[in-house]
Amino acid sequence: MGIVTSQLQALLQLDVRSAIGLLVWGNLAMGILVTGYYLFNHFNFRMRNTLMFGIAKYLQMLAWFLLFCRGFLPEIATVHMGNSILMVGFALEVGALATHAPGFDARGRVLLVAVTVFCLLAFNIVELILQSSNIRIGTASAATVAIFLPPIVRYVFHRDTTRVKRGIGIAYLVFLGIVLARSVYGFSNSRVELFSGGVLQSLTFIVTNLMMIVGTTSLLLISKEDADIRLAELATHDPLTGLPNRRHFTEMAGPVLERHTRLQKPVSILFLDIDNFKQTNDRYGHAFGDEVLQEMGKAIHASIRSFDMCCRIGGEEFVILFDGAAEHDGLHAGERVLESIRACHFPAHPEYRLTASAGLYAAVPYRGQQMDVLMERSDRALLEAKRSGKNCIHLYVEPAVGAAGEPVRDPAVVQQMDMSRKAHMDQKPDVGQQADVDRKPFTGQVDDAVPHRVQ
Ligand code: GH3
Ligand code: MG
Ligand code: MG
Repeated sequence: MGIVTSQLQALLQLDVRSAIGLLVWGNLAMGILVTGYYLFNHFNFRMRNTLMFGIAKYLQMLAWFLLFCRGFLPEIATVHMGNSILMVGFALEVGALATHAPGFDARGRVLLVAVTVFCLLAFNIVELILQSSNIRIGTASAATVAIFLPPIVRYVFHRDTTRVKRGIGIAYLVFLGIVLARSVYGFSNSRVELFSGGVLQSLTFIVTNLMMIVGTTSLLLISKEDADIRLAELATHDPLTGLPNRRHFTEMAGPVLERHTRLQKPVSILFLDIDNFKQTNDRYGHAFGDEVLQEMGKAIHASIRSFDMCCRIGGEEFVILFDGAAEHDGLHAGERVLESIRACHFPAHPEYRLTASAGLYAAVPYRGQQMDVLMERSDRALLEAKRSGKNCIHLYVEPAVGAAGEPVRDPAVVQQMDMSRKAHMDQKPDVGQQADVDRKPFTGQVDDAVPHRVQ
């Protein structure tokens, strides 16, 4: 037992100069590792930070080498240059990590630069005036904490942080806690020097060595995590509108349909298609067409409830799943979406009026029913909406079944909406150029909304 205790104590009585020597070799190794990672991946996004981190490691290596040579080189090289280069190296390391910190924006970067410049000036001025080794240790340690702290706090406490980032942030906080203790110890103990022994000195350099490894591993882990999140976003969302894509939508809709089958509750599927979009592109250009798609995405997103789902299914077509909505509610919600689309305004072309047509299919899904089938039906209703003059909603109606079980009508038949309702809803189509069409909004009357069924 006594041997174990004495060995544990020995572990906390490291030779500081050797520990600093390890920081020289370690930072060189980390610099080479990160530079290699950069060279093989620099086509990847956000890789400039990796390069910055690599430079930080080489600067830290140089700084630790200068500090290692304390007593052999002039003070200006070891004390002033060594500590100043170390601070810049730390700032670059933090800058690289901060780019991945949630909520770290341009203001954060300015703050980081300001804190670093302040620490550099404060350290060198205090050193010139006092030339006291313990005050030097206190100031340099306090500067390290000040430089690291702002982004690290975001890693730990920001609401958008990830588990990996929080874990890394906590490791840095432990490191900073020990450095802070060393700072207090330095300010309060006049006999402390760079190479002094003691538990706190040893602990500081053990943790600094560990953080050198943790810092590099963190950067690579966080870069990988951010890249994974980005790739997942690209694989599941449409980059133009930011809405889910077809595959993701279908995947998300699966459990919703299962739940509604179990609870015997209806869903409504609304298939939307922009009217005369080809002409829009031809007349105003593709870039404006893209802007229209973005605005359409926003309008849809803003006009549905949080638990409804929407996606850009492709081209200028969008699909919405109204959770728990039967025909009547689906038609109401669909009309609300069309109204919000009609309200879109484009400052570049104020005369342009955006309209879309929609097809709705409402049903209680049966066990194993595929989303594709529901979408196909709403798509057929959409076709009817287009045929009947655009800028309106049509409802898909199940084909009637004969005695022998076959449909008596073509299954593709989609019942035209009740004429009185159509009179309310239809507006002149065109490219959507008529700014002054006399719109009569959907009255919202239940009897108006439900179309005649094929008997
Ligand atoms: P309709 O009213 O019958 O729907 O006529 P339309 O012209 O809107 O329909 P159509 O399906 O013939 O044309 C769709 C157009 O959408 C063709 C294509 O150039 C355009 N489009 C598809 N995807 C994009 C896109 O991402 N950006 C832009 N700007 N246009 C797109
Ligand atoms: Mg289309
Ligand atoms: Mg279209």
